[in-house]
Parts: sequence; structure tokens; C-alpha cells
Amino acid sequence: MKLIIVGAPGAGKGTQAAILADTLKVPTISTGAVLRKEIADGTAFGKTADGYIKAGNLVPDEFMVELMKDRLSRDDCQNGFILDGFPRTVKQAEALDEMGVAIDKVLDIEVADEAIVERLSGRRECPSCRATYHTAYNPPKQADICDKCSAALTVREDDKPETIQNRLNVYHKSTEPLIDFYRKKGLLVVAQGQEEVTQTTKEVFRALGIE
Ligand code: AMP
Repeated sequence: MKLIIVGAPGAGKGTQAAILADTLKVPTISTGAVLRKEIADGTAFGKTADGYIKAGNLVPDEFMVELMKDRLSRDDCQNGFILDGFPRTVKQAEALDEMGVAIDKVLDIEVADEAIVERLSGRRECPSCRATYHTAYNPPKQADICDKCSAALTVREDDKPETIQNRLNVYHKSTEPLIDFYRKKGLLVVAQGQEEVTQTTKEVFRALGIE
């Protein structure tokens, strides 16, 4: 399946993408994770992206489209993939069409704005293996330590309170129009994001018609 997941920052796209990737046996491509790795590796691309991400703004479309052209042409994507965080603008969605990528479904995970701020501020990430946690909803076994590789967990630079509101504004202005774009194409399915990860997964599987 070629699946796109959309939803506000903190809606649970990454968490559900990881679960779906396991079930559907396809890779997940998380553009946010790809960009954070470029930054950690100190690449030229990472240096360009860093300022945009720290401010909670979008990296310009032309960079993202080039990045995804390369990524989606690799062998592991030929039987399907899950896109978490791309496209994020109608321009990026149009570029995906122009690449000739035939998307099967677009999953929108809906969460009210009020819940988003609480969710983002509790989010923790492993800087080593990139596993994600939440202090309230998906805590590691030992506080602030990764279950998988025992590294000390960190707060994403753009999950700091001053950046969260801007990311929400950017989502409503630039990314939400994608929902109509894909509804008109007949590809959109909607799941309500719940407090519990497992409840959201049930909603997601129901929306996608997965047993
Ligand atoms: P995420 O982990 O998906 O929340 O992404 C973190 C940040 O990376 C976003 O706030 C953007 O600054 C940047 N980013 C990720 N994906 C895209 C994209 N498709 N277009 C533009 N910027 C992106």
C-alpha cells in the first residue's frame, strides 16, 4: 500500500506509521526524522533545514521535493510505503503527482488543537535509535531512558513551548488544505486521534479497512 498520513504535529502520525509499517511490511518515510538526521550528520542540506525547523516553519518545497524524489526511487519503496510528514503543502502533493506516484489512501488523524500542546510538550525522542515516547501516554519503562538502546531521551528542539503554537499555525495555513485536495480525489479516510495509542490504532485500522 502507498499511504500518506496527514494530521497536526503531535497527532500521532509517527507512532501510527511505525505500527502500520510493521503490519503492512512496508517502510515508513518520516521526512521530519530524515531532516533531523541530516542536521545531526552536519550535511549542507541539514544546515539549510535547521533554521526552518527550529523556528517551527516549513522547509521550502523545492528542497523537500528533491529529497523525496531521491528517497522514493529507491528499491525498498517499490512495493509500497508510508509517508509521515510528506506532502505538507498542496505544492508538494502536486509534485508527488508529477513524479507519477500513485497513492492508494490518505489517512487524516484528527486531534483538537487543545490536546496538541499537551501532547507535544510531553514528547520525548531517543537521539540514538530515534524511538519516540510520551511522558503520559507512552512512557519508557525507566523515566527519560530509551527502552530499546538505553540512551538518555531528549526533547525535540521544535517541541519547546515557544515553537509549538507556530507549528500549529503553519499546519492550519499550509497543510490542512491537503485534506480537501485528497478528499476531492476520493483518497481520504479519517481516524479520530485518541488519548491512548492503542485506541487510535483501532481507529486507524478501521479507517483503512485492515483486520
Ligand atoms: P515532523 O517530525 O514531521 O513534525 O517534522 C519536523 C519539522 O521538519 C517540521 O516542523 C518542518 O520544519 C520540517 N518538515 C518535515 N517534513 C516537511 C515537509 N514535507 N515540508 C516542509 N518541512 C518539513
